[in-house]
Amino acid sequence: MSECLFCKIIAKTIPSKVIYEDEDIFVFHDINPCAEVHFLLIPKLHLTNMLELQNDRLHISLMGKLMVKANQLAIELGLANGYKTLVNTGVNGGQEVYHLHIHVFGNK
Ligand code: 5GP
Ligand code: ZN
Repeated sequence: MSECLFCKIIAKTIPSKVIYEDEDIFVFHDINPCAEVHFLLIPKLHLTNMLELQNDRLHISLMGKLMVKANQLAIELGLANGYKTLVNTGVNGGQEVYHLHIHVFGNK
């Protein structure tokens, strides 16, 4: 079993407020929201952060899928007037949880 917090959230050994899930990606509310709406999108594949991304079909399609779903869910959750996205990467990027994730947050 992975020691990664977000892998445990994907496996549901740690509970979360799930927004969306399919075979490739998992989306859930941030436990410590910094806006009225704040959710995280993650690939089910454990990637530490964007520094691990390769120029291959899998990574390109995964990142595209995450971004398209980010927008769809932002609109569904009331952020059709706009929102912020954030991907913290590595020590110098202020990353705290080392499983690649995209933050989406905003106020309605
Ligand atoms: P980072 O700084 O790595 O980009 O952000 C990690 C995010 O994960 C933070 O916004 C933090 O609130 C969120 N987070 C940390 N632990 C948990 C958890 O156990 N459950 C959920 N839902 N979010 C978490
Ligand atoms: Zn992980």
